[in-house]
Amino acid sequence: MTRPLQAHIDLHALQYNAQIAKTTHGDHVMAVIKANAYGHGAVQCAQALLGIVDGFAVASLAEASELREAGISEPILLLEGFFVAAELEQIVKNDCWVVVHAQWQLDILLTANLIQPLSIWLKVDTGMHRLGVQPAAVENIVQQLYQSENVDNLTLMTHFANADNVISGDTVDQLAIFSNVMQAIQANQNRPILFDASLENSAAILAWQISCEAACEPLQSLLSRTWCRPGLMLYGASPLTDINIETGLKPVMTLTSKIIAVQTVKAGQSAGYGSLFTPTRDARIGVVACGYADGYPRSAKDAPVLVSGEKTQVVGRVSMDMLFVDITDIPAASVGSEVELWGQHIAINAVAHSAGTLAYELMCNVKRAEFFYHN
Ligand SMILES: *Cc1c(COP(=O)(O)O)cnc(C)c1O
Repeated sequence: MTRPLQAHIDLHALQYNAQIAKTTHGDHVMAVIKANAYGHGAVQCAQALLGIVDGFAVASLAEASELREAGISEPILLLEGFFVAAELEQIVKNDCWVVVHAQWQLDILLTANLIQPLSIWLKVDTGMHRLGVQPAAVENIVQQLYQSENVDNLTLMTHFANADNVISGDTVDQLAIFSNVMQAIQANQNRPILFDASLENSAAILAWQISCEAACEPLQSLLSRTWCRPGLMLYGASPLTDINIETGLKPVMTLTSKIIAVQTVKAGQSAGYGSLFTPTRDARIGVVACGYADGYPRSAKDAPVLVSGEKTQVVGRVSMDMLFVDITDIPAASVGSEVELWGQHIAINAVAHSAGTLAYELMCNVKRAEFFYHN
């Protein structure tokens, strides 16, 4: 048999989750499909989302070109904008929308000689302190952008640092700063400056939608569109730190493999590198063709896993191409038995938690699997 590691992508679940984002936000949706759609396949996901979402966000011109070459004609936003001035020509050619997050980008944009104006998303740093111009500088920058021949449409955006924490006050603080910035821009104008706004990532859509709407409320008559930017939720994993909050999302990726060998490990013996698995009773373990070179986290401890339809645990040390599962209590399991690493039955968040990481990282890291797309 060929190596049995498979990633099954449920495009119907992807559409279902996108619909949740759309319904909850109630306005425009910019589907975040950077990093090859979080490991799910950017082109396939974009095609499946046509007609549900209003645009796609990626991290680089290379990611955008891949979509254009596949015939995607929807708006594509570059979340980090351009990295060097030389990219602008291709950005215009590929008809991309561009985030501007720093003064150096602004300097390049305002002095460039473009054959067509660009849609600009000005990123405001309201407290995350990663990307974005400072709130006090926004009014002046917006004036410059609004008057520039290189700028077509303007969107004001910000990004939350702690929207995954439903009891943190940080999101409300960031919202207040963003709302004040928007209001200040309008207060000093003879003529209103029209712009769009974009605030929510997945966590904010699921936990802070009402707060976001309230923050935009004073500007209602001036905002033509608001855009949410869901990423993780599209792929069916909850971004919220409180795992008890029901999101209704459906997992999109199911990662499966098979048992390729069975070992009996007597009480007192051990298995694998570092002899980490040392059972106190005679144990049966299955060796599964999936390891950290496939993206399975080496740091996973007692991660849940499904073998022949029954829940059990990953045991011992995860190696590069293989891992062990405990099948002592699953007598039906043998060579060839089906193993679900995560997906439909095993929550990717549970595996991530056992490895001290997030679903984001696990999804993005999947490699060497054969991909199958299901409608
Ligand atoms: C990646 C990204 C998102 C999507 O975040 P999720 O938590 O996956 O929803 C949204 N906005 C920006 C600016 C991003 O970089």
